[in-house]
Amino acid sequence: MEKETFDWQNLSFNYVKTDYNVRCYYRNGSWGEVEVSSSEMIPIHMAATSLHYGQEAFEGLKAYRGKDGKVRIFRIEANASRLQSTSDATLMPQMPTETFREMVIKVVRLNERFIPPYESGASLYIRPLLIGTGAQVGVHPANEYLFLIFVTPVGPYFKGGFATNPYVVIRKYDRSAPLGMGMYKVGGNYAASLRANQMAHDMGYPCEFYLDAKEKKYIDECGAANFFGIKNNTYVTPLSTSILPSITNDSLQRVAADMGLKVERRQIPIEELTTFEEAGACGTAAVIAPIERIDDIELGVSYVIAKDGKPGPVCKKLYDTLRAIQYGDLADPYGWVTVLED
Ligand SMILES: *Cc1c(COP(=O)(O)O)cnc(C)c1O
Repeated sequence: MEKETFDWQNLSFNYVKTDYNVRCYYRNGSWGEVEVSSSEMIPIHMAATSLHYGQEAFEGLKAYRGKDGKVRIFRIEANASRLQSTSDATLMPQMPTETFREMVIKVVRLNERFIPPYESGASLYIRPLLIGTGAQVGVHPANEYLFLIFVTPVGPYFKGGFATNPYVVIRKYDRSAPLGMGMYKVGGNYAASLRANQMAHDMGYPCEFYLDAKEKKYIDECGAANFFGIKNNTYVTPLSTSILPSITNDSLQRVAADMGLKVERRQIPIEELTTFEEAGACGTAAVIAPIERIDDIELGVSYVIAKDGKPGPVCKKLYDTLRAIQYGDLADPYGWVTVLED
C-alpha cells in the first residue's frame, strides 16, 4: 500500500476520506458479523428513528503514532463503556466492549497509511457512531441499528504552540438540562449548542461557555469540553448532571492525583473563577486548551485567569504528561493505551 503524503502539519479538524470503515448491524435482537466497507455512504430508511427522533450516539477517540513507529490507541474500553451508557439512555442495544475494541483496532489497522507521523503532532481521529435504522413513525425505539466506525486524520490542535483562549458565557441558550441528555454523547446536545457557538463566534470568541441551566450559577462546560480549575495545589472540576463525563478529564484527574494534587469534583460557582490560578478546557481534541479569561458580557464581568495570557505551569505539566502517555514517550502505568503490534 502506498503511503499517504499529506501535509500533516496543516491538517485541520475536517473530514478527510480514508480507505475503509467497519460496520455491524443489529437485527432480530442481536448483533451480526463485523463488516468492512469502502463506501462513505449508508443506505438508510427515510423513517429511521435516528433521523426523526435523534436516536443516535457517538464517540470520539484517537490513535497516535509513537517515536518508535508503533500505533497507540487511547482508552478504548472507557469509550466503549460511555457508549453503552448512552445506549441505555436512548434505549439502543449495547455494543459489547470486546466487539467495540475489535472494531476500533480493525479500522485503525485498515487505514494505517493515514496515521500521521510522530513528528507532525497530528493523530488519527476515530469516530464510532450508533444509529437507529429501523423505521418508526410513532415515538418508539427502533428494532434495527447500525454501529459503524470511521477514522480521519486530524492536525495538531495547537498550531502555534500551547496557548490560551478566551471564552464567553452564553446565558441565552442552554446546551442541556439537568436530568436531560447532557451526560450522554448524543447529537441532540450538539444541535442545541449550534446557536450558542455561533453567537460566540460572531462576537469573536473561539468558543462558548455554559452555566448550569437551572440556576445559571455554576460552571457546566466550555463548549464541548469539560472545565477544570487549579488553585492551592488542587484540581477542581464540576460535578453536574448536565455535563458529559469526559475521558480526558477523568485521565487528567488521575494524572493530577499522581502528581500530588488534590482532586475535587463539586459545584463551582462562576464567581469562584477569580480565585483560580489556572484553568483549562479538556477533551480528546486538544487534551487541554488553557483558558485565558471568561467574559460574562451580559453581566459586564470578565474573569481573567491567565494574567500574562500564557498557559500556567500545572496545565503545561498535565498536558505534557498525558500527551507523552498517548504518544508512548512515557510509560503508561494506568493500562490506558492499546499498542498495536506490527
Ligand atoms: C466528547 C465531549 C467532551 C470530551 O470528552 P472526551 O472523552 O474527553 O473527549 C466534553 N464535553 C462534551 C459535551 C462532549 O461531547
